[in-house]
Amino acid sequence: MTFENLGLAPALLRALDEQGYTQPTAIQEQAIPLALAGHDLLAGAQTGTGKTAAFGLPLIQYLATTPQEVATRGPRKPRALVLTPTRELAVQVHDSLRGYGKYLRIPSTTIYGGVGMGNQLDALRRGVDMVIACPGRLIDHIERRSIDLSGIEVLVLDEADRMLDMGFLPSIKRILAKLPKQNRQTMLFSATFAEPIRELAMEFMRDPKQIQVTPKNTVAETITHRVHPVDGSRKRDLLLHLLAKDSRLQTLVFARTKHGSDKLAMFLDKSGIKTAAIHGNKSQGARQRALNDFKAGRINVLVATDIAARGIDIDQLPQVINFDLPMVAEDYVHRIGRTGRNGSTGEAISLVAQDEAKYLRAIVRMLGRDVDLRDVPGFEPQTPIRWGNSAPGKAEQPGGERTPRRNGPQKHARRPHSEAPRHAHAGPKKHSSGPRREGDRRPGGARPSQARPAR
Ligand code: AMP
Repeated sequence: MTFENLGLAPALLRALDEQGYTQPTAIQEQAIPLALAGHDLLAGAQTGTGKTAAFGLPLIQYLATTPQEVATRGPRKPRALVLTPTRELAVQVHDSLRGYGKYLRIPSTTIYGGVGMGNQLDALRRGVDMVIACPGRLIDHIERRSIDLSGIEVLVLDEADRMLDMGFLPSIKRILAKLPKQNRQTMLFSATFAEPIRELAMEFMRDPKQIQVTPKNTVAETITHRVHPVDGSRKRDLLLHLLAKDSRLQTLVFARTKHGSDKLAMFLDKSGIKTAAIHGNKSQGARQRALNDFKAGRINVLVATDIAARGIDIDQLPQVINFDLPMVAEDYVHRIGRTGRNGSTGEAISLVAQDEAKYLRAIVRMLGRDVDLRDVPGFEPQTPIRWGNSAPGKAEQPGGERTPRRNGPQKHARRPHSEAPRHAHAGPKKHSSGPRREGDRRPGGARPSQARPAR
């Protein structure tokens, strides 16, 4: 399959060629023809699958080839709105869309909080076709009437699950109420499809075509998952030990809290590893600077919280370390989506204390594959991981099922380190509850070509 076969305009093909995109990814192959035909889309895809181009290319092609439906006086009204959960993702989507549309004139702007209103107001006054916005700041603009959404023809909800997790549902509903209902194409991208997302889709979409590339919760086969059991109090030292093995390696470290990521970044930095932290309390400028420094190799370690890391696009990251395990197993997938991309190998290392065993169990079950569980010499935990009765792969249980203690309370009998590592077994894999790709069924009611202008 080539991009030509998908029906894209020459100006887009040229830009893609320059960016080195030779072949569409699976989500692009499925989404682009449907989106070009004007269908609403409910797409199951996470960061790293090429989802931005999957909605961005048809969106740009539409704007470039279809005259504005309503002639407007004064500055042009935006015709396309992309909603994203975070500022980083808004910036990244905007950069990607500008790259794809570089041979087409599609004025656009981003709208997000944490920065002054001035530039955004200027851009809106000049007039744009495309707005990439975070819900909170967009509501501010709606309230001060600095944006008119009555001309929106295409709406994209990017990472809808994350927007809902972040409590944006009421804002999204307010925004949707400002959009025209007729002749609007809506594309919703989400890694997961919990009930609230389905409800949102039912309410605001018109017979959406459903597509899914990565069955829910799958991760690249090229990633190795390694777990180091360790006492919580020794995690920092173990992390330093692991990082110091090769201080040139670019590593993304995940911590659960903002405060925790700050403290950890400070500790690593003081220990001689060039580190920065990004999280929701940092200004947009500071986050962007840290990200740029990391990408440029000026710092080697970026400590991030889950939300701040959403949408961070760093290709070919060799390793991701979970300093804390995420409490929601699906976040593990998001975290390690930064490594092992495009067939390259990657390593996901998790430092797991006894009180995190329950999270590890859920992750192993979700991954549906074995996890390499091994102590690091010198950092063996005093409190072993207990898997409990519901442990997956009970026959060969790691951690808590170790040989009983010997030689007093502090010491455990252990295999020599040269021994093959233990494995945490996954047990039977759960089936995806996400949407399936539909056949060639036409949308009920109006055909897309009737429901909106033909393209
Ligand atoms: P996304 O899932 O949209 O965040 O994209 C993940 C990464 O894949 C980005 O760095 C894109 O530039 C890159 N990418 C997207 N589509 C392709 C493609 N067809 N060929 C090569 N790289 C791509």
